[in-house]
Amino acid sequence: MSGDVTRQLDPYLPFAKGLQRWMESFRRLGIRYRGALLQLDLLERKGKYQNGFCHGPVPSFFDEQGRWIAGQINFTSEAKPDQVGSGARALATLFHEGGHAAHFTNVTQNSPCFSQEYPPTSMAYAETQSMFCDSLLEDADWLKRYATNDAGEALPDELIRLRIATTQPFSAYAERSLLVVSYFESALYRMPDAERNPESVLALARECEQRILGVAVSPRPVLSIPHLLNQESAASYHGYLLANMAVYQTRAWFQKEFGYLTDNPAIGPLLARHYWAPGNSVSHDATLRSLTGEGFSARYLADACNQSVDEAWKEAQQLVAAAAQRDYPATDLNPVPDALDARIRIVHGAEIIADNSTSDAAMYLQFENWVGQHYSRTNGGHRHSAVSPNAQV
Ligand SMILES: [Zn+2]
Repeated sequence: MSGDVTRQLDPYLPFAKGLQRWMESFRRLGIRYRGALLQLDLLERKGKYQNGFCHGPVPSFFDEQGRWIAGQINFTSEAKPDQVGSGARALATLFHEGGHAAHFTNVTQNSPCFSQEYPPTSMAYAETQSMFCDSLLEDADWLKRYATNDAGEALPDELIRLRIATTQPFSAYAERSLLVVSYFESALYRMPDAERNPESVLALARECEQRILGVAVSPRPVLSIPHLLNQESAASYHGYLLANMAVYQTRAWFQKEFGYLTDNPAIGPLLARHYWAPGNSVSHDATLRSLTGEGFSARYLADACNQSVDEAWKEAQQLVAAAAQRDYPATDLNPVPDALDARIRIVHGAEIIADNSTSDAAMYLQFENWVGQHYSRTNGGHRHSAVSPNAQV
């Protein structure tokens, strides 16, 4: 659907710049990690698990003496930096998993049980935080401010319009692509043991794809989705759709309250207070009510899906025009060595590629140099890979 646009966008979203753009963007949003250790293993390796994911071996909490125990978060992806679209995918991974990390390292309760990723932490609640962060990458004002090519030129308006023209007509289809998994699983687990065999399961998958997506075989066949096959993630896929509902509700509230999201320094502190600090001690709905004053609603996601290409493009132009007029806080004037309050290590298996023990700026340079030495951006430009909204969990 968007292979050609992905190729045209590629020079503006180089893989090697992804780390810096993620960290600067989060810093300007006022997101902080409260002293956490983040360990990122981003690059492909033979035998590596293919789906991006994040895991927190050390949950954050205040101990019985009131001392802060900072969290630790590891995240992984299988990036191929010499492939077209790899820069966009790296950013999506960093914003998504970085959003999970921001959430789990900002739970400020008196026990680690509130900041760990397993139940009663709901997937919809957890994914709201990560998907809110990666949703920012779709915004025209974010692209205008961050997506520059090697010559320092900003992304042309025409490419932003083209991107909208290729993705907006499929917005509802994208949400249905989440829904199809849950409908399939629901029917699968109701199937009597005697009837369940490879043929009937496959036929059920095809029937769900036809009914919900309107195609005989989904381009991402239901049975190829790893969540279904793993005990921890089976029967949880509806969480992504619920999360997206909450994401659009949250975005709409920030838009109404402040008029913008990109580089809005109020976002990190408000999310930290209303969504992250309580952890799983309150319900997902209670966090939404706390910030937006309104219970869980599907209306905002539906509104976004129902926009025509022209409406979405008009809104994008308004965002870019408003951003050009806005006086952003001068956060770049006094760059601090560790702006996100996190120890960050970029690793490749057992090897440390880059870290911010000296400064964030030194880490960006180490990372860019390492990528430059190991991959060439000029070859391997034949595979078209669209950015999937749920290529990571
Ligand atoms: Zn996730």
